[in-house]
Amino acid sequence: MWWSCSSSKGDPKELLRRWKSILHHICGVHRWEEDGMEHKCYHTELPADEQIKKWLAEDSPAYKVLYEVVMNTRLLKDLEQMALFKHTGQLEVFHNALLKYCPKRLHFEYASMQARTMLAVMDHNENHNTQRQQAKTASGLQRHNVVFQKQSKQWIARPVYQETTQTFRNDLMDAVIQRRLDPSVKYQDPESHSKVPRLAANIARVSKPRKEDVISAHTSRFTGPDS
Ligand SMILES: [Zn+2]
Repeated sequence: MWWSCSSSKGDPKELLRRWKSILHHICGVHRWEEDGMEHKCYHTELPADEQIKKWLAEDSPAYKVLYEVVMNTRLLKDLEQMALFKHTGQLEVFHNALLKYCPKRLHFEYASMQARTMLAVMDHNENHNTQRQQAKTASGLQRHNVVFQKQSKQWIARPVYQETTQTFRNDLMDAVIQRRLDPSVKYQDPESHSKVPRLAANIARVSKPRKEDVISAHTSRFTGPDS
């Protein structure tokens, strides 16, 4: 997704074509025809050991699920808006905010994950939607840290920005109280609960056999007539 957005030079059609190309690539197809034109992946010729790796089969459940995700109408509409996407700096900053609310080492339930992501968005909007002001020293000079930069192997001065704020938390608590005091909002309103999407229990293509059958098949392999 990042590659499609960043490499399509503001052309939404090209962006969508690049995005959808994953459906060919993931099946090991790197040249294909589309609207009477031949297209190919942008990566270089794959070495032999890469070519024989396990690609997805087009009739597999995994492919079908991926297809649903890639071709989701709403996502495709949103992606068109990403054609003017230029750099990922803001996204990386947002990712840092997200990590603060959703540390990767911990597991969260769906509703918690959803709420935490929303908090990260609010935090980001409050602090990074506009350029934060550089912090000043007591004497009014702009503050810097001198840090060693890996790429340039040089010491550079990095601006120190003002502390982030979290006033959205107070606004949020006020809104919670207001909502709780509102007699027209029913407590335990089912609409107010986030809906967990229904996911398949497993990715198996055939239904689960009886346990006894699996055990007897397993045992007969080891105590068959040949042994
Ligand atoms: Zn490819």
